[in-house]
Amino acid sequence: MRWSSDRCMRCGVVVPWGRSVCRRCNPADLPSPSPTQYHATVFLSVLAAVLVFTVVLLVRG
Ligand SMILES: [Zn+2]
Repeated sequence: MRWSSDRCMRCGVVVPWGRSVCRRCNPADLPSPSPTQYHATVFLSVLAAVLVFTVVLLVRG
């Protein structure tokens, strides 16, 4: 079961269901990524950082 409201992924305030950020964190009401997309983006960013770090270590020997 899911509540009829969600929470802002930035400040934690209650937002309408289906929204990932509140009005205050997204004043322009830009299309915000869904929580799943947000987590995927974070995961890819971390993965990219690890890859870059590994390459730097390999290049420096
Ligand atoms: Zn917020």
